[in-house]
Amino acid sequence: MGSVPPIGSSGSTGPIDSHCHLQSLSADEREAALDAARARGVRGFLVPAIQLADAEELLALAHRHDDVWCALGVHPHDASTWQDGDERRLAELLADPKAVAVGECGLDFYYDHSPRELQEEVLRQQWRLALELDLPAVVHNRDSNERMLAVVAEEEFAGLRADFHSFAGGLAMAEELIARDFYLGFTGMITFKRADNVREVIPILPPERELVETDTPYLAPVPHRGKENRPEWVVEIAERLAEERGESYEAICERTTENFFRLFSKARAAE
Ligand SMILES: [Zn+2]
Repeated sequence: MGSVPPIGSSGSTGPIDSHCHLQSLSADEREAALDAARARGVRGFLVPAIQLADAEELLALAHRHDDVWCALGVHPHDASTWQDGDERRLAELLADPKAVAVGECGLDFYYDHSPRELQEEVLRQQWRLALELDLPAVVHNRDSNERMLAVVAEEEFAGLRADFHSFAGGLAMAEELIARDFYLGFTGMITFKRADNVREVIPILPPERELVETDTPYLAPVPHRGKENRPEWVVEIAERLAEERGESYEAICERTTENFFRLFSKARAAE
């Protein structure tokens, strides 16, 4: 299996699900979902927090499983939950060896669940922390390209490492993010009939910048579209990416896994 070492004791050779909100499933469903994915060769899982209140539960889950890691932070929907002192609290939580990224953080001007200025400020605080702790950020961006690019361009964020997960921001946005060496995550959207706007990014994205993810419980790929998503279906996403690239499934799994560990380097160190 080339230069990619087996993860945990499984020695699986499938893809890594780089974004699955397992906290949305019950404790039993969670374990069953992990086992079902492993049975199909899925060799790792990154579970991003939505708010700081998730942290303890996600860290406990990650500590129970060699192949599970978490990102800790505050989603733009929940930016209003951010309180004075949370920056220090988050920094302490991120010292845990299983916390490998800051997030999920970002901007969402589609739902506007939190005021836009507050979303931006909470994003800045989390990116400052990412730079200070030398961790990558897991970034959510929806209908907010213009402000996202403005914040990205702020001088203090030069050198930020990031995964723009579930990317659907269009070609021009992709070009800007690629120029900054960011990573883009593909979800089940790449299997949707009308998602040419997602697939059109593939030819311009350097292979070493692509990741695959389910975004469980959302965006289940064809032929499971409309159901509650599960990490095992990252296989269908990697298969479609292989088809689009004209490469083998194995090659896509190997490369996206290398990409994952390059970006989320703390996960490799924890092995
Ligand atoms: Zn997410």
